[in-house]
Amino acid sequence: MTTSFPAATIEGYPRIGANRELKRALESYWAGRIDAETFRTTARALRIDTYNRLRDLGLTEDYAIPADVAYYDQVLETALTVGVVPGGTDLDEEFALARGTDTRVPLEMTKWFDTNYHYLVPELAAGQDVTPAPERIVRIVEEARDAGHTVRPFLVGPVTLLALSKPAEWSLLNAVVESYAVVFRALKEAGVEWVQVAEPALVADLSTPDSELAGYLREAWTALLAREDRPNVYLTTPYGSAREALDVLGSLAPEALHVDLAPWTLDADPGYPARVAAAIPSEVHLVAGLIDGRNVWAANLRERAEVLASLSRDSVSVSTSTSLQHVPHTVNAERSLPVEVAPWLSFADEKIGEVQALVAGPEKAVEAFAQSDRAVRTRSESTTIHNEAVAQRVATLPEGEVKRSPEFAERQKAQHAELGLPKLATTTIGSFPQTTEIRKARADHKAGELSDEQYREALKTEIKNVIELQEEIGLDVLVHGEAERNDMVQYFAELLEGFVVTENGWVQSYGSRCTRPPIVVGDVSRPAAMTVEWSSYAQSLSDKPVKGMLTGPVTILAWSFKRDDVPLSVSADQIALALADEVRDLEEAGIKVIQIDEPALRELLPLRADDRPAYLDWAVRAFRLVALEAQPATQIHTHLCYSEFGQIIDAVAGLDADVTSIEAARSKMELLEDIDETFHAEIGPGVYDIHSPRVPSKEEMVELITAALDNVPAERLWVNPDCGLKTRGYKEVEPSLRNLVAARNEVVGAQ
Ligand code: GLN
Ligand code: ZN
Repeated sequence: MTTSFPAATIEGYPRIGANRELKRALESYWAGRIDAETFRTTARALRIDTYNRLRDLGLTEDYAIPADVAYYDQVLETALTVGVVPGGTDLDEEFALARGTDTRVPLEMTKWFDTNYHYLVPELAAGQDVTPAPERIVRIVEEARDAGHTVRPFLVGPVTLLALSKPAEWSLLNAVVESYAVVFRALKEAGVEWVQVAEPALVADLSTPDSELAGYLREAWTALLAREDRPNVYLTTPYGSAREALDVLGSLAPEALHVDLAPWTLDADPGYPARVAAAIPSEVHLVAGLIDGRNVWAANLRERAEVLASLSRDSVSVSTSTSLQHVPHTVNAERSLPVEVAPWLSFADEKIGEVQALVAGPEKAVEAFAQSDRAVRTRSESTTIHNEAVAQRVATLPEGEVKRSPEFAERQKAQHAELGLPKLATTTIGSFPQTTEIRKARADHKAGELSDEQYREALKTEIKNVIELQEEIGLDVLVHGEAERNDMVQYFAELLEGFVVTENGWVQSYGSRCTRPPIVVGDVSRPAAMTVEWSSYAQSLSDKPVKGMLTGPVTILAWSFKRDDVPLSVSADQIALALADEVRDLEEAGIKVIQIDEPALRELLPLRADDRPAYLDWAVRAFRLVALEAQPATQIHTHLCYSEFGQIIDAVAGLDADVTSIEAARSKMELLEDIDETFHAEIGPGVYDIHSPRVPSKEEMVELITAALDNVPAERLWVNPDCGLKTRGYKEVEPSLRNLVAARNEVVGAQ
């Protein structure tokens, strides 16, 4: 084959569209407002526009543009193409797999490596049928060609596909490899010269041990690369260093190999570039993933050029470390960023420019390198993001473990005396349904049609309604309902110093869902109280305790773009101290119960087992800093959800919260066995699955509470839903909460 690999490329690009065109098309189709034909035409137009845009940005070489196309998810796309999941090219079948129907449950969804993107988990069975549908990928190539583009089709690799499936059914490996061979042949017949195949499973510790994974890698790829009737293979290893697998990759010798050399990856594995240089033979064309695909900072081009040079190869291509799907489209779409901050940032489009600058080198790309130098300098010298007072405060903190005193048992006595709660106390997780009126009030306020005062009044009315409803239902510990919060992280980011928020920085989370992560730009501090007004107003309306409601430091950090100039633990400590001040102010305002939510505690867990203990140490410490100075009689709650916590249950107990509410209804309280041994504090395993509109009956909640009582004594058990109620409507929430209180009363009566 003759076509050489492009000198400058990227691993993938946001699919959702600069104006979220795909999101709108998907949601219109699902709602029945457009038909399948219109949906397909709209999505096709977006793909072609994207290729045009990438060409205009300089990706002009053949095969420089990756066609990492998917309507819903990239793993589902590959699963359908190679046929481990049946569905062929049927659009409705694809969406049924992704979203479920009245009669079918959807595929499970889980986080894609350590990003905030979620993929659909294929469900496999030994001996199942594997029938490829190569037309899915061939038509992508052909439609691009018709529009004048020679794109590079994309597949998730066979090892990664199986490793991420449920279960990882390795007995299917041969059949799956055969299926990839069929897809490769179809691509070859369609005239394709390069195919991109991603094998990020090699960088993570998954359920299959490394040594086994390396064996499957060798087996699958020896067979695939031995085929004559295939395009050149561009094998990629984004999301970290392919530590042990590197030698195998070298000996397999695909035509081109991508390695992730992002600063974040090299921080964890500094020797990686040297090992890559040694392990990968010269006949393999090396593609250096130098530009960070999942953070938003402008690259330090001179430092990056040095890493490139250290690979000591005659010809190396330059790419991003991962797909750019994890960052927003362009900094140019932001009009309200502080002028000082804008030049420090680089979103997807700007990163393409950085890739090209590295390919051209400092002699030719003089302006780009000079601009990078300026950004590096102004950022390191900036007095707005470096705050002496914050640095001092963090520096004077004790090192290592911090612990609230007195011990839980003693605090518990003080709290019970103070609060006088019944056994099996009932509460909710914080948010109440976000009504259309509240959404409208927020939009009108933002648009300037509602004054600050009017908006405040609207929020207070809502808080009053929520308190009255909870009193009437008979809950024991009330919440104010979080009507003032657009989002549990963005709300705090907007009020804290050291963050910037974007207007258009949307990033796909899953399917049509996007989030707009704030950016931690510098040292974090709290100019003024953030939640006290709402919590104390709510408390003034009731004699029952109302919970103060904070998002914890780990979750704020996990759902933001992080600084790359200090360790994560430093930002975590700073956020924690700001929240500790809020705890103090809440106490002073008479709030006796304070919840610090940490649903993302599990999410930041490093991909490699070796790196996990250090993470858990600083994450737990940051949480404890928030509560460290709280009065013994102040009851500190925390809340966790969205993941299985079995693996980190010790750390959850180590948070040393007085009460922990945790998602459990869907798994039918499976986690209780873990909890029994590790937990000595109070706990509220959710008895009401809020992820579905179904109203749980009193009887089923009685059953769940009774099951919980087998493991946790009544003095330590709480009764609550699984998670916040903001995505639900009052018509389900009201009867569900009534049933919840009735279930508690029945269990207590029977005791
Ligand atoms: N307090 C938050 C709420 O109820 C917690 C949200 C969450 O767990 N994700 O909305
Ligand atoms: Zn939750």
